[in-house]
Amino acid sequence: MNISTAQQALKHFFGYDRFRPMQEDIIMNVLAKKDTVVLMPTGGGKSICYQIPAIISQGTAIVISPLIALMKDQVESLKANGVNAAYLNSTQSYVEQREIEEEFRTERLKLLYVSPEKLLAPAFLDFMCRMNISFIAIDEAHCISQWGHDFRPEYTQLTSLRQRLPHISFVALTATADKATRNDIASQLSMNDPKMFISSFDRPNLSLRVEAGQKRIEKIIQFLRERPNQSGIVYCLSRKNTESLANKLRNAGYNATYYHAGMPTHERSRVQEAFIKDDTPIICATIAFGMGIDKPNVRWVIHYNLPKNMEGYYQEIGRAGRDGLPSDTLLFYTFADVMQLREMVSDSGQHQLQLSKLERMQQYAETRTCRRRILLSYFGETLEKDCGNCDVCRNPPELFDGTVIAQKAMSAVIRVKREMNKSLSAGMLIDILRGSRRIDLVNAGYDRIRTYGAGNDISYDHWQLYLQQMLNLGLIEIAYDHHNTFRVTKTGEQVLMGKFPVNFAKLSQFKSTPSTKAPT
Ligand code: ADP
Ligand code: ZN
Repeated sequence: MNISTAQQALKHFFGYDRFRPMQEDIIMNVLAKKDTVVLMPTGGGKSICYQIPAIISQGTAIVISPLIALMKDQVESLKANGVNAAYLNSTQSYVEQREIEEEFRTERLKLLYVSPEKLLAPAFLDFMCRMNISFIAIDEAHCISQWGHDFRPEYTQLTSLRQRLPHISFVALTATADKATRNDIASQLSMNDPKMFISSFDRPNLSLRVEAGQKRIEKIIQFLRERPNQSGIVYCLSRKNTESLANKLRNAGYNATYYHAGMPTHERSRVQEAFIKDDTPIICATIAFGMGIDKPNVRWVIHYNLPKNMEGYYQEIGRAGRDGLPSDTLLFYTFADVMQLREMVSDSGQHQLQLSKLERMQQYAETRTCRRRILLSYFGETLEKDCGNCDVCRNPPELFDGTVIAQKAMSAVIRVKREMNKSLSAGMLIDILRGSRRIDLVNAGYDRIRTYGAGNDISYDHWQLYLQQMLNLGLIEIAYDHHNTFRVTKTGEQVLMGKFPVNFAKLSQFKSTPSTKAPT
């Protein structure tokens, strides 16, 4: 079997003239019956990597896929291209399933898509093991790994496949896996010296930008004003938020609507259609929106809230600029979001893992180095030089001596602790520094400490941003087990004693930066 046979099949069944760079190597590896791991961003062309080998190999390729809707789409488009393919899952009737099993038995299928449940049903597994199988493709392979962000228990049983079918090669495909997840996929599937194909995750046409989350609505409206008639998505954490934000944008004169999983199916399809056709170019949505939507001219993506992890963030911003033209992304970052996400995460299984993923996300939002470097390093890639298309590259932070500001804040925290044995939340700390007459503050006697009012020359919003910087610098930390109050760290104590100075980034860096304008 050689590559020209594969190329002919590509032309004949899919109408394409040539393979994309990595597809060819992957296909050769699969045809050589070697274990293969493919990591390629969404839209990169993973399906062809197993469909072409399946078409030109003897026997039937088994494709394991967790998403029934996608399975159906794939099979229908293969059939439309003249490829004998079918799928099996638990939504089909007994009769339908028997018919397909018969096609499989009589070797009329080049590809058979199966859900993991169906595959692992003992009767089916026994039957399959007696058939002529070309290879097994495992789509969305990150679902097998506890390290992935979308672990699915039904996938873990795939670990027994190798024992049942020791001579059949595997190809595992995913769009989202950090290094630990990739290695785990290979080991869970007991792969034999697998070859890993990792295509670049870099999307240089997407600008990256992070802003403080204060006055988000105003900032969004400003952002939209700079981009008339462009289509985009604002991702929000809560359903309620998608609705209220869409209302606010409409009131400001923008053609916006909302989308979330709580809406009836027909309503959701309607909104999705209207977005694709540019009838409603702006959608405020939860992360339920976007899976399987192929709209090339999405010009921007905003995250109203911090995403839970880098995988999700990457996938969501990746919905912008599919056509390769310059597109903008904007992430709002607040401390309140981190708190809320931490709470949500602590209610989930895999607590520690999710927390560390959230911390990586937070580091990304807080970084003062090229963001693309951080983003790509998460997926195991290194950039040769800074990207020039993120807010940090465009606008490197200007620093100033923030020692006195930091000392005022830390002194308040320490005095309240020493003198009253109390811990302070961000809000109370800022109110003390600004000399607020808030009743609970006065009742607690906080107006009597030395630093009361010592920071009234700095606005509330700016204090929040300085506290954030102090957290990044490790001067203070948050006691999550103690109502999210502040503690001064060892480093902080040294700064308080004047052992060394600290630099803060000037807050002008948080102001809106010039955007990349898409050619019109
Ligand atoms: P993924 O599964 O990685 O998200 P798909 O397999 O759905 O991506 O491919 C994305 C799009 O790219 C599809 O429309 C597909 O037909 C197209 N495509 C894939 N390979 C090629 C190729 N060699 N030449 C042209 N288009 C391709
Ligand atoms: Zn950069």
